[in-house]
Amino acid sequence: MILVINSGSSSVKYELIDVEGPTRHQAGKIERIGEPGSPFPDHAAALEKAAEEVAPHADGLTAVGHRVVHGGAAFTGPVLIDDDVVKQIEEAVPLAPLHNPSNLAGIEVMRRLHPGLPQVAVFDTAFHSTLPPAARTYAIDREVAERAGVRRYGFHGTSTAYVSRVAAEMVGKPDMANVIVLHLGNGASASAVSAGRCVDTSMGMTPLEGLVMGTRSGDVDPGVIFHLIRGGMTPDEVEEMLVHRSGLYGLCGDNDMRTVLDRVAAGDDEAALAYNVYCHRLRKYIGAYTAVLGRVDVIAFTGGVGENSAPVRRKVLSGLAPMGIRLDPTRNSSVRGARLVSADDSAVAVAVVPTDEELEIAIETAAVVARTNSE
Ligand code: AMP
Repeated sequence: MILVINSGSSSVKYELIDVEGPTRHQAGKIERIGEPGSPFPDHAAALEKAAEEVAPHADGLTAVGHRVVHGGAAFTGPVLIDDDVVKQIEEAVPLAPLHNPSNLAGIEVMRRLHPGLPQVAVFDTAFHSTLPPAARTYAIDREVAERAGVRRYGFHGTSTAYVSRVAAEMVGKPDMANVIVLHLGNGASASAVSAGRCVDTSMGMTPLEGLVMGTRSGDVDPGVIFHLIRGGMTPDEVEEMLVHRSGLYGLCGDNDMRTVLDRVAAGDDEAALAYNVYCHRLRKYIGAYTAVLGRVDVIAFTGGVGENSAPVRRKVLSGLAPMGIRLDPTRNSSVRGARLVSADDSAVAVAVVPTDEELEIAIETAAVVARTNSE
């Protein structure tokens, strides 16, 4: 049995998973860490509480799997954690200043509480380490890029690995499918996966590039940033605006797609523009990744918006019949669960696959432990 720990900036999620089955045993989430009035002043307090909660159910615990957002260039897959690994995750902090420190706090506390158990780090960036140089390289001065670690890393890798594998199985091509994964949650990314290897992804050095998100801008001309700085904003102000006050929220004041859709239905122009910009960007990426892959077997929607919003799927894919993409309206509107939503005569299958990052972390953790034990 694996204990999965997702120690985020203000919350800790934990779950006990037996990958045989798989069977889920005990799960929980502690929120508002460090906020005024919260009973959890820091990550250590929250993680100790989580360890206490799982203890009665943790018979046969074999390992702890940690979600780590940024593995930098060092990590191309999950690894057994030792002092060196911790040091390398620390070195990637400048690339993910909001996430890696909380992930590290989770690792530190769990190593202290369970010194005898193997602990494994599973990186959001790792699945994208297969990006070919043509896809991962920014066309800027090479020496500057190398010195500063500037390249595309990609994120949502754990989700994309899981969803692309499930979608490939759904179309009967478990080892060879070409898949476009659209992870549309609060953050959003598109990835092109060929035979289980990621060949392109929309998030870059940071999770700011690519699709329009809840509060993040996705792609903008870098010239915009210098224009704003010369106009009097500080770099920190521009960053804060692009990360927290852009995307759907920046365009219409709401970042929840459900609210945006309700406003569109009520005839609200700002919400309609936000929705149109969001869907237009997605369509562009589907076209781009179709060209990158050459042939697409399945487009898989996941994340809160991708899994639940039939209108978004319909709008994004409408008019793409010449590319062999046809939705079945009834399947598209039916509720929940992993399913195909394309028409029988669609050359490209369209799937909805609820993501399961915790299960994927448990599977990858168990695999690392099994490999280590057999060495
Ligand atoms: P996630 O980050 O994957 O948990 O996704 C969260 C987002 O999913 C929320 O901000 C909502 O905008 C979106 N969402 C959840 N349910 C729906 C729904 N039924 N329709 C549209 N969007 C939804």
